[in-house]
Amino acid sequence: MGLPDKIEARLFIDGEFCESSNGKTFPIKNPSTLKLVADVHEASEQDTDRAVAAAKAAFPAWSALSPDQRGAYFKKLAALIREHNDEFAALEAASMGKPVGGFFDAYAAAAKFDHCAEVGYIVQGTTSVQTPGYLNMTLRQPFGVVAGIIPWNVPLLFLAGKTAPALITGNTVVLKSSEKAPLTARASLCLSSAKFATLVQKAGFPKGVFNIITGFGNVSGSILSHHMDVRALSFTGSGRTGRLIQAAAAKSNLKQVFLELGGKSPAVVFEDADLEQAVKETAYSIQWNSGQVCMANSRVYVQDTISEKYIELFKEHMKSVTMGDPLEKGVDHGPQADEVQHKAVLRYLEMGKQSGDLVLGGAAPSDREGYYIQPTIFTNTPEDAAVMKEEIFGPVVNINVFKTEEEVLEKANNTEYGLYAAVYTKNIDRALRFAKGLEAGTVGVNCTSPSLAKDMPFGGYKASGTGREGEPLYSLNNFLEIKTHPRSL
Ligand code: NAD
Repeated sequence: MGLPDKIEARLFIDGEFCESSNGKTFPIKNPSTLKLVADVHEASEQDTDRAVAAAKAAFPAWSALSPDQRGAYFKKLAALIREHNDEFAALEAASMGKPVGGFFDAYAAAAKFDHCAEVGYIVQGTTSVQTPGYLNMTLRQPFGVVAGIIPWNVPLLFLAGKTAPALITGNTVVLKSSEKAPLTARASLCLSSAKFATLVQKAGFPKGVFNIITGFGNVSGSILSHHMDVRALSFTGSGRTGRLIQAAAAKSNLKQVFLELGGKSPAVVFEDADLEQAVKETAYSIQWNSGQVCMANSRVYVQDTISEKYIELFKEHMKSVTMGDPLEKGVDHGPQADEVQHKAVLRYLEMGKQSGDLVLGGAAPSDREGYYIQPTIFTNTPEDAAVMKEEIFGPVVNINVFKTEEEVLEKANNTEYGLYAAVYTKNIDRALRFAKGLEAGTVGVNCTSPSLAKDMPFGGYKASGTGREGEPLYSLNNFLEIKTHPRSL
């Protein structure tokens, strides 16, 4: 679908679209064509404060509604999101390079709002008569103002995942989208109908309940993290920023912080695996969204007896991927999101060539001007090499060979991260034993799909984060305080 030549993206505060108070905007380039697609208003300190104040003012009336009453707004919003699927797909393609073919994010985001609308009433307090002469009870209450800070790689889905459970439980929200791909996470009046804040307005949410700002992490993100009126903060992004946010919370009001951070996910392929399925899944995992996925299996360990065949098939699979303009149908592989991301991946490619054997790719394609990277495979890379330890966030996989289960378990767990892991084997005993030993918040058995079962919690062990999101019960609980009432009879 066509987009306007240039989009002006404004802040959405207290139910109104507004310009940055200091007049600052920043440009967004299409990473495939390098053409300017939007000017985005940058939230200043004053704008961020105003968004928090609006959310605070809206809290008493919003929290007084029942979950069903709040859910009625969600259902309208979900329907609008679905209606605008193609426009969201085009916006993400133009602003961060995700191919429109196979774009599922709008439907998944709408489903989160629909689902929360259905289950909002579920989280309730408890009662106890264990203490003689007392009827004790707990009351679940919303925090007040909740902030969400999201990255650029799957913006619409993270926006929905953070805001739907916070809002349905009676909190009000200030969401800060990433400075890299802010177009889907907020909207401007000049783009008539298609973007998110416009849909929030259209769905009739009361003013101030849901504020969406764009801006830089070190300004608006940092202000939200330090803000005394923000009582809980849900963050998805890098470990570096997660640590800054946790420190800011510790220095300010000790707000509740949930962190969904990076990964260096291993996939372990045993000799008895369904080889074609393992290749298909593991190759897709590192290729989808050009490898810009927190859970992508960037380290694959394959058993020595099948390694040659696996690597050959993996190579064929990666070669069959269609690289091109993400706005065109039939393209599987778009550019990296921006110049910074592109340069970072190129640096890792050079490091990878120094440490391991290059089997495929290893450079930017010479026939494209955008921020493209060839799908890249390294083998025989030492475990302590930077490309084995650090998150690359590009279409770059290291495939190493192992002999025994004990050896590979130790290697798979030899990382500071613990977000996702996968094991491929037809032996159910081994699958369960091995999965139990893997240090990761999610372990796929014979699958490495980037889209998870929506009824399951998602989050990290170790430096991949704190808390769980995804499955509504975990998320709803995240955004509710527990008040205990001891009550004498
Ligand atoms: P990032 O940490 O650079 O930025 C994420 C967000 O934090 C942005 O909105 C940014 O503006 C904001 N921010 C930056 N500095 C800040 C500060 N000082 N205070 C408050 N906010 C600040 O991450 P990114 O480059 O946008 O995203 C990529 C990272 O996100 C990768 O590490 C990836 O693995 C991770 N990620 C994790 C998950 C998950 O579910 N665990 C999902 C997607 C991405």
